[in-house]
Amino acid sequence: MSPGGAGTRTPHDADEPGATGAGPARFLPAADHGRPPHPDDLALAVAGRKLLAGADGRLPRVGELPAGIDWVPVGTLDGVPAWAAEAADPEALPGRWRGWRSLAADLPEPHAALAGRALAVVTWRRTHRWCGACRTELTDVPGETARRCPACGLTGFLPLSVAVLVAITRPGRAGGPDELLLVRHAYGPTELWALVAGFVEAGESLEAAAGREVAEEVGLAIGRPTYVDSQPWAMSGPGTLLAGFTATVADPSAEPVVDPKELTEARWFPVDALPAELPPAYSLSRWLVDAAAATGSR
Ligand SMILES: [Zn+2]
Repeated sequence: MSPGGAGTRTPHDADEPGATGAGPARFLPAADHGRPPHPDDLALAVAGRKLLAGADGRLPRVGELPAGIDWVPVGTLDGVPAWAAEAADPEALPGRWRGWRSLAADLPEPHAALAGRALAVVTWRRTHRWCGACRTELTDVPGETARRCPACGLTGFLPLSVAVLVAITRPGRAGGPDELLLVRHAYGPTELWALVAGFVEAGESLEAAAGREVAEEVGLAIGRPTYVDSQPWAMSGPGTLLAGFTATVADPSAEPVVDPKELTEARWFPVDALPAELPPAYSLSRWLVDAAAATGSR
């Protein structure tokens, strides 16, 4: 699992105008707006893994789409309520259907976060219609992103998958700049030089998952990983949260041994001579690479 695509944004930037005018956009998740949809509210129509964007590339408003859509609350952007719904007839809606990666590359980060949440909520509602214990149809829990069984009371919340990314460095040789370990994955965007990454297992801490993934994928031991930043990520399925770490390799003379099921290549790069095929600018992977390069070249 690794990010892909291309983009030019910087981490957590809030310089771009929000949906309602000038100033930084702020996204908050929500499960209740306390009122029905208003024509000026933001509308996130979902079809499969795609979202509807307006002709100008921005997110449409409820009033721009046909009446009668069964909207569910997903959050606010600059205080403007946002709603999501599965499109019954995608071709009938005005605009352009786009994948989350393309939206994340073009829109400010809070918009991408809202779009990712809309995808997650709509997908989860589609795939969690019936009680897994007694097969009764689930109902919404008011004010929460949760579904409850009216027969047996089983309650299910939108699941969150957590994955770790690890930027592994070692001291440069002969006083040169630090070296960063980059890998090429066997699936996904295989042309990119990315970071060791993997999902956290139940019962595991983030740090333990980071150490395990590094050992499994490249056969190296690392010191205690240092947490850097996190990012909601909608490319690896709905509801993924990435947690990014840096770590130094325990034995600087050790060379990576790749797990061929996961990776095709792993290589140390001096941080002042990184390859061009890096993860996109809007991705946590890239922020970690850039952070390692900034630290390691001092
Ligand atoms: Zn039940």
